[in-house]
Amino acid sequence: MGQGYDYTCKKCKHKYSVFPGMGMLFPEQYRNTLAEISEGKYGKELQDAFNSTPYAAVDAENVVYICKECGSWKQDKDVSIYAPNDPASIPQKEYGIKTVAEWGYVPYVMRIDLDTEYHIVKRYYHHCSKCGKRMHKASDNELKNLQCPKCGCKNQSNAGIMWD
Ligand SMILES: [Zn+2]
Ligand SMILES: [Zn+2]
Repeated sequence: MGQGYDYTCKKCKHKYSVFPGMGMLFPEQYRNTLAEISEGKYGKELQDAFNSTPYAAVDAENVVYICKECGSWKQDKDVSIYAPNDPASIPQKEYGIKTVAEWGYVPYVMRIDLDTEYHIVKRYYHHCSKCGKRMHKASDNELKNLQCPKCGCKNQSNAGIMWD
């Protein structure tokens, strides 16, 4: 469940939208994100940190990153690497009908578990593709006023779309 933001550019009429939060197929999204990290999509440093951390986890929710400098934005994941506080307990954790040991992997880790049972080992920063500056997570207010990716015009989102 999350809230989406929907835009129609007042200048060039381009339509765009963002869906921050947990996607519909979260476990799949989670597995895909880990695969991308281990394949090096987010760079070698992150790949190494991931591969050298037993039961490494990430926050696979959708996040909108925005550049303070030029206002450009993108939807991506916070792929900072987390490690479990108690790795020895992970194999016994239950996911549905099976334990992690039986699945052979951790099916997914939610943000709330990252906060309570994990700690960060490698932080990842997203950089603006236009000006190279470090981006930050968009605030609610920024989410409602994302600029048009085509012409850069600042627009206000239509009423939020609810989705699940
Ligand atoms: Zn536009
Ligand atoms: Zn920028």
